[in-house]
Amino acid sequence: MAAPNNPVRSITIVGGGTAGWMTAAVLSQWLSKVKIRLVESEEIGTIGVGEATIPHIRNYFALAGIELRDVLEHSMATFKMGIQFVDWGAPGEAYIHGFGKIGRDMLWLHPHQLWLAARARDPGRVKSFDHYSLNCLAALENRFAFADARNPQSPLADLDYAYHFDASLIARLLRTKSEERGVERVEGKIVDVTKADDGSIASVTLADGRTVDGDFFVDCSGMRALLIGGALGVDYEDWSQWLLCDRAQAVPCESVSPLTPYTRATARTAGWQWRIPLQHRIGNGHVYASSLMSDDAAADVLLANLDGKPLADPRPVRFQPGRRVRVWEKNVLAVGLSAGFLEPLESTSIHLIQTAVHRLLALFPAEGISQADVDEFNLQARIEMEDVRDFVIAHYKVTRRSGEPFWDYVREMPVPDTLAERLDLFRSSGRFFKHQAAELFAEESWVQVLIGQGLDMRADPVTQFVDDDALFGFLDDLADVIGDVARDLPDHAAVIESLLKGA
Ligand code: FAD
Repeated sequence: MAAPNNPVRSITIVGGGTAGWMTAAVLSQWLSKVKIRLVESEEIGTIGVGEATIPHIRNYFALAGIELRDVLEHSMATFKMGIQFVDWGAPGEAYIHGFGKIGRDMLWLHPHQLWLAARARDPGRVKSFDHYSLNCLAALENRFAFADARNPQSPLADLDYAYHFDASLIARLLRTKSEERGVERVEGKIVDVTKADDGSIASVTLADGRTVDGDFFVDCSGMRALLIGGALGVDYEDWSQWLLCDRAQAVPCESVSPLTPYTRATARTAGWQWRIPLQHRIGNGHVYASSLMSDDAAADVLLANLDGKPLADPRPVRFQPGRRVRVWEKNVLAVGLSAGFLEPLESTSIHLIQTAVHRLLALFPAEGISQADVDEFNLQARIEMEDVRDFVIAHYKVTRRSGEPFWDYVREMPVPDTLAERLDLFRSSGRFFKHQAAELFAEESWVQVLIGQGLDMRADPVTQFVDDDALFGFLDDLADVIGDVARDLPDHAAVIESLLKGA
């Protein structure tokens, strides 16, 4: 292991799924003096899911030197403006958690406060909350455009997007970029790990007897967690008391029109189903609690709820919600599923890979590993993961579904104190404050989900100083402008087609 004054000059990445190649593509772009090798096993393969992202992915692609056109062309990507949640509040209801800003503030009052106040005064005079966000309305109309950054006063400035992409194709694109920049790919199955005297990892041994050493190892071996869990024995904190789902069945199906620019998450009896539209197919999966539904029943539910003809048999995936208690231990950093996993409800897993890679660059042991850097990394990773966990749990906790064991449990379960306190503040005044500046989900995200699911929320009492004319006039104008702008945006499929043609 590289001690202080013992610089890291070689990195071995163990695993070539999305995490491995995302790590390789960025490190090879920025660490020119460091030798980077990646070991992967075709026999074992990758998890093959993970196709929906959040807008920060664009920062990753910029850092990795990958252009929009590359993503569209080589990973059959589509644009994503948010997630539509169907049947989560109660059966028959739907809302969108859209990206980007919502409407406009009136002085210091945020749009959701005005909307809550207006609904309390006259529910018949407000539209559903989706109508005050251009991203949500555009998504529902299957329209897409890039933000107009030159004109910050225009509603178009608030547009934001992420991608849906094919998991295996994006890994291939990242691999090509990485190999072009000198990353050495080693094919083979790791069967043994050798440690140095200080307990750090010295090398991995492949089935054919070859060894691969390194000053530093990035464990991207997925749920196997070969180094961080297997060789170093770092514990995994289980979060299944809040997140009951521990399995998924995944299946692609044929595309159907229109090409929707959003992910759909539909609540099911013991979990939920995703729908991710790509250019060439739709990715689908049913996430469920194995304690309450059998694998066969879950596969049947999935197949009965596809928009197009299935293109394969459902593929089962098992997982354990939770996190690695220390993601950096000695000379090993866990990135991707080896570091932990929350179910894919808010498409956060690829994002957590991205932030881990950014953080590694920010704390890179260029002159050797310092325990202060390791501790800082682990602290940031824990806070980040707990924040995301709370947001995901909130989707379950704030349901009004009843009469099904799964939903009855999650509605009544005690939640982490951090979340319980946040929900109390929302209920009493609709107010929200970030607990730390880097918190991933902002007020816009929380209010869309909580209003969408029907949390009983009072408006900020300060809204009493806004009279009816000003309040309803402001909201009516906002909805009119957003409605007009959304309807004039181009069709999502047409935008992709013209970008691919180079128009
Ligand atoms: P893997 O893809 O499992 O890769 C592990 C690598 O390690 C492979 O290359 C494998 O060959 C290698 N390996 C393992 N053992 C050995 C060995 N002994 N020798 C050599 N090589 C070895 N994330 C999102 O952001 N959005 C989503 O929509 C989303 N949906 C998901 C749905 C489900 C059901 C699940 C379970 C996850 C989802 N995720 C999603 C998470 C996402 O799939 C992962 O974060 C992402 O794919 C990264 O996985 P990975 O690279 O860590 O692991």
